[in-house]
Amino acid sequence: MTQRFDYDLLVIGAGSGGVRAARKSAEFGARVAVVEEAALGGTCVNVGCIPKKLYVYASEFASAWREAKGFGWRSEGISFDWDTLRDNKSKEIARLNAIYERLLNAPGVDIITGHGTLTGPQSVLVNGHTYHAEKILLATGTWPALPDIPGNELALTSNEIFDLAQFPQRLLIVGGGYIATEFASIFSGLGAEVLQSYRGELFLRGFDHDIRRFLAEEMRKSGVDLRFDHHVSALSAGASGTITAQLSDGEADFDAVLFATGRRPNIAHLGLEHTAVALTEQGYLSVDDNFQTDEPSIYALGDMTGGWELTPVAIGEAMAFAQTQFAGQPTKMEYDCIPTAVFSQPPIGTVGLTEEEAIAAGHSVTIFESDFRPLKHTVSGCDERTLMKLVVDQESDRVLGAHMVGADAGEICQGLGIALKMGATKADFDRTVGIHPTAAEEFVTLRTPRA
Ligand code: FAD
Ligand code: NDP
Repeated sequence: MTQRFDYDLLVIGAGSGGVRAARKSAEFGARVAVVEEAALGGTCVNVGCIPKKLYVYASEFASAWREAKGFGWRSEGISFDWDTLRDNKSKEIARLNAIYERLLNAPGVDIITGHGTLTGPQSVLVNGHTYHAEKILLATGTWPALPDIPGNELALTSNEIFDLAQFPQRLLIVGGGYIATEFASIFSGLGAEVLQSYRGELFLRGFDHDIRRFLAEEMRKSGVDLRFDHHVSALSAGASGTITAQLSDGEADFDAVLFATGRRPNIAHLGLEHTAVALTEQGYLSVDDNFQTDEPSIYALGDMTGGWELTPVAIGEAMAFAQTQFAGQPTKMEYDCIPTAVFSQPPIGTVGLTEEEAIAAGHSVTIFESDFRPLKHTVSGCDERTLMKLVVDQESDRVLGAHMVGADAGEICQGLGIALKMGATKADFDRTVGIHPTAAEEFVTLRTPRA
């Protein structure tokens, strides 16, 4: 580093990607600062994965109590208190914020609190002070995007939904992606009447078609009012704090409306205009496979570059960035076989190609599928079913995709991710001994191809 730079690396955004990049780069010997305008940990820790998963756990107790009856438990008089959940969640997030601060302090990363604005290729303005850095890493994530309809200012986004003062008994959720689907299950599980409105013919675009259809059926069985080819055209303030929504099939009142209609890169007042950084056609930051933008001293990674908008991907990219730039170990992020889960009820777990993707890529595929009632529900009386599906390449016998809807799908598909990453064939699955009695053992006992 030459004297004219305050830092070797200045990171803007202390979320999943920014924290990991700052921390690892400092551990590799770089002088690093990270600029953050909100809470340390970013979206995942504060208004994403972590509070969401805590709310998923909370909502699962409702069905657990119902099912317990068949096993002899008496569960009358059970009630749910929103304030307790919300406040305990906030305590846990505060604990995590402090851990993130310690993680940055330990290798000597300077934390600069405020909004960072680029003033040139190697300079960033924060609170009136300009910092100079040899390299700048942008990791500012994304922000919810709302459809431009009258009354949209009455709607909530995922940023606000965790901290509502009152539990919404009637909730309208607009969208058919991860967030809309997860929150539909969460609030339905917690006891709200939930209408999930999706503009297309089947939600969760991009997931395997059978998985999407199966989950829709299961969610409807669990009480979510799931409407497809459905539109919300306007919102207005109704009586006593309610919101009246104009729907394609009528008008209805709700206590709250959540828009989960996608996210856009967080680039407001970031000062990109003072640099040569370019955007892709979709509006994400354009980077090469070393995360370098069109401005050679500026890099970007995580959600703001599009692609897989997942915490482990942002972290993987940050590791590759730090190793390449500051450890002398050129490293590329691998984007094949990324496992992911939708924490709906029941959840989806998936890794590899969907049946549609495999066919589009030119594979001739054999499909192995099992749709069954889990052992637990034979006694619980619950009518929830599980679906498991393997997409196998006929030529090589390689398992191209593994997909599941059912309890613990995320936990199960993490392990399958290793097998698929290693190039496992169907014969490898077949010679693997199952763990009995589990649902997961179905994945190694699927013998008959779908007709
Ligand atoms: P972020 O974590 O968004 O961090 C960006 C940071 O930059 C923020 O702290 C922001 O305040 C800061 N910032 C922005 N602009 C500036 C500026 N100019 N100056 C200073 N600071 C700035 N992923 C999963 O893998 N699993 C899940 O279960 C999951 N659940 C999710 C649930 C929800 C409701 C949401 C919204 C997302 C979820 N995600 C999940 C996605 C995950 O949160 C993101 O992929 C991840 O946080 C991306 O990390 P990032 O570093 O790119 O950005
Ligand atoms: P998604 O992109 O997943 O979904 C957005 C949804 O909103 C789509 O169904 C889209 O429909 C719909 N939509 C977009 N614009 C409009 C509009 N104008 N009117 C009506 N509907 C609209 O975004 P999310 O916000 O759900 O999540 C963002 C990302 O965060 C996810 O892609 C995922 O990467 C990450 N995430 C991961 C989670 C996990 O790992 N479990 C959980 C939550 C988020 P259409 O399909 O027709 O375009």
